[in-house]
Amino acid sequence: MFRSFDKSAFICVYLWPILLCHAAQPADQIWSARYVVTMDAEHRVIENGAVAVRGSHIVAVDTRANINSRYTAPNHLDRTEAVLIPGLIDTHTHAAMSLFRGIADDLTLQDWLEHYIFPAEARNVTPDFVLWGTRLACLEMMLSGTTTFTDMYYFEDRVAEATKEAGMRGVLGETIIGFPVPDAKTPKDSLAWTEGYIQRYRNDPLVTPAVAPHALYTNSAETLKACRALANKYSVPLVIHVAETRKENDDCLKQNGVRAVPWLNSLGVFNGRTVAAHCVWVDRADMGILLKSNVGVAHCPSSNMKLASGIAPIAQMLAMGIHVGLGPDGPAGSNNDFDMMEEMNLAADLQKVATGDPRVVPAEQALEMATMGGARVIGREHDLGSLEAGKLADMVMIRLDRPHAVPLYNIYSQLVYALKGSDARDVMVNGRVIVSDSRSLTLDSGVIITKAREYRSRVEQSLHTPKAVSH
Ligand SMILES: [Zn+2]
Repeated sequence: MFRSFDKSAFICVYLWPILLCHAAQPADQIWSARYVVTMDAEHRVIENGAVAVRGSHIVAVDTRANINSRYTAPNHLDRTEAVLIPGLIDTHTHAAMSLFRGIADDLTLQDWLEHYIFPAEARNVTPDFVLWGTRLACLEMMLSGTTTFTDMYYFEDRVAEATKEAGMRGVLGETIIGFPVPDAKTPKDSLAWTEGYIQRYRNDPLVTPAVAPHALYTNSAETLKACRALANKYSVPLVIHVAETRKENDDCLKQNGVRAVPWLNSLGVFNGRTVAAHCVWVDRADMGILLKSNVGVAHCPSSNMKLASGIAPIAQMLAMGIHVGLGPDGPAGSNNDFDMMEEMNLAADLQKVATGDPRVVPAEQALEMATMGGARVIGREHDLGSLEAGKLADMVMIRLDRPHAVPLYNIYSQLVYALKGSDARDVMVNGRVIVSDSRSLTLDSGVIITKAREYRSRVEQSLHTPKAVSH
């Protein structure tokens, strides 16, 4: 006899797995927009696109319709007149110097450093100064679409504290320099302190500690070698200014018989993850060394223009395959803001001026530098820099409803040549919304702006106080 057909058993065994496949999967957040610019390997741009996020990671990137049928989420942000892009990655800055914004402009780098910045720092930089300066910087950065920044300053543990409060990501390098500075009397003290700092933060989900020898002209060969050894001991990056001015290269040639890049290479400074800021005065052989050593270049067009440092041969570097990211550099005289959208625009324009060819560094390549390029420079291309399933959820919603955003023919052109940092409307880092409708959810902007004004009076006073004379 036939057994009677057991309908419920059939559904359980055969149909349930199929039904499960088609049932909506849970996500925590879905962000959808008119365009999703992924910056993935194919540079997919999805019209009416969406990104589903679970925890700190992206789980899917697709059309709005597909994401909405495959995922359910308690939080859904849908902006029909906006473009969703990967979080911008700043590869070189000095965040806490925001409290010195505009202190001295229109000077040579040496004059600016020796007569204004170094004395102002000696008299004002304390752990609290760095904490408030970084809070101010993080506020400005997040409101203009930066999600990760690469820093070099003093009391870098305070930079880390402010970065974590902001909910941002940072590669935060403690400065090592060959003269007494606010947080160390000697480079040796500084290296010892940096080791403790690295141990404290090396497993942090948002902060990557780094060793930051200021430059070859402010450090001895032994200190530079010790910096590399310390960075390699803990597998953390080394951040350094390289070949920023003609003088740096000429002096190095006079003193060591070789240019800046081969000199640093001969000391072994590039034997490990390195972020080299500027690289303006590099020739083809120097670029060959940067490529071979996998050095990431942090291009800072605003700074190079404002300080008349020169024009870094970025188009050539990109053609050779060198990793290039962008950075605003310091806010105190070499820029004076943290707007990465502006750096993208200037990076593209400056190469056109330098080469006489308007076809070099097109908009798409400029956006690449600010996203995937930056991720490669800091060694994070596996989990940052693009909107792809499996990557960390760092992304920015940029509005397309203002006069300078319409009409729209090409989204890359709009992002690089027309839109501004102030068009960033919502920002997510590590799956957490830190900016909503152009307001920070993590930092108190009223308190920070008041505090910045207070610091201005103190700094101004300190510069007019005669320096104690030592005999
Ligand atoms: Zn710098």
